[in-house]
Amino acid sequence: MPDRSFLDWPFLEQRHREWAERLEAWCAANLPVDHGDVDAACRDLVAKLGKAGILEPTALDTAAPSPLDVRALCIARETLARHDGLADFAFAMQGLGTGAISLFGSDEQRKWLRKTRKGEAISAFALSEPRSGSDVANMDMSATQDNGGYVLSGEKTWISNGGIADIYTVFARTGEAPGAKGLSAFVVPADTPGLRVAERIEVIAPHPLARLSFEEVRVPASSMIGKPGEGFKIAMSVLDVFRSTVGAAALGFARRALDESIARASSRQLFGAPLFDLQMVQGHLADMALDVDAAALLVYRAAWAKDMGAPRVTREAAMAKLYATDRAQEVIDKAVQIHGGDGVRRGHIVESLYREIRALRIYEGASDVQKVVIARQIKK
Ligand SMILES: Cc1cc2nc3c(=O)[nH]c(=O)nc-3n(C[C@H](O)[C@H](O)[C@H](O)COP(=O)(O)OP(=O)(O)OC[C@H]3O[C@@H](n4cnc5c(N)ncnc54)[C@H](O)[C@@H]3O)c2cc1C
Repeated sequence: MPDRSFLDWPFLEQRHREWAERLEAWCAANLPVDHGDVDAACRDLVAKLGKAGILEPTALDTAAPSPLDVRALCIARETLARHDGLADFAFAMQGLGTGAISLFGSDEQRKWLRKTRKGEAISAFALSEPRSGSDVANMDMSATQDNGGYVLSGEKTWISNGGIADIYTVFARTGEAPGAKGLSAFVVPADTPGLRVAERIEVIAPHPLARLSFEEVRVPASSMIGKPGEGFKIAMSVLDVFRSTVGAAALGFARRALDESIARASSRQLFGAPLFDLQMVQGHLADMALDVDAAALLVYRAAWAKDMGAPRVTREAAMAKLYATDRAQEVIDKAVQIHGGDGVRRGHIVESLYREIRALRIYEGASDVQKVVIARQIKK
């Protein structure tokens, strides 16, 4: 049984503890799933998570609007990731893909949220481009005014759920000003003519991922989220909510790696005693437990600060994401070591954790970028 003492920390409330119980029961009954066909697995996971009500915190409830509960999002990602990385992915993308609509969307655009929260529509977040990954403000994709609407032209890449999404939140240059101040955000249904999957991208921990081509994609003016020129602000506001949840997913992977390692070290007999009795192994396990607790403190601190109404939690979220993802990589590497040959055996849980964790240190702002963000925040 994983350590769940963090649920009693003052960052969390009774409803979060009940939420954690509900999630744990659902995960135990439904996960892991077969990853053989990731498109089918993700569609199925979104439908099942939606039916079970687990996608509810991912987007605004238009019937009873209240701010997104970042602690509930973090608990969900941590729990799902501990059981199955693909389940965490399916959950997370429903939030990231609709975050701009939850925060800045019109009533018309928000009609999508009822569907995404029920798992009846899949969403995606299309920000990155081949030439401008970390350098978002330099994006090329254009949105030109035409006949009262906009024409989108260009490419997006590394788009999670690319190919299976029903709606994309797309960022493009409308040109009100140079750089970051000239971007806008749009809701683009997947069946809009001119939008196509140019390439499916395979990664070490497979999930639906694609490069998308926009060839004169016409959208009405009403598809713009917020106002012209607000795209960068909108993207950063969405990341301000969801960045700490990436840390939470890393925490889930790390917690699983620690649990597997404790079990392995306790059951494996070497030199006439359990592996656990070797002091160097105890040292590894102690370091892993320390990293897990420290990451949890940073993740739930950031989520709590956002839930308490802080307009921006840039520093806290960057620290949570940076620390939790980087340390999870270390924790999982130690887990592989403790498992010996089994640690690199294809299909073993710690082998899959080793692959799952890597991309989290790159997307939603690479670790190096988080350091730059933190440094800017602490500069007097
Ligand atoms: C699995 C996966 C899923 C993704 N899903 C999505 C998605 O759903 N939607 C989406 O829009 N994008 C998505 N991305 C894209 C992701 O956000 C980008 O890969 C990321 O922003 C880095 O961009 P890049 O790959 O172009 O690398 P580059 O921008 O070329 O950066 C390469 C490296 O340079 C270093 N670096 C960059 N900038 C700085 C800096 N300022 N200071 C110091 N070092 C720096 C970092 O080490 C970085 O890793 C995904 C990526 C992956 C791998």
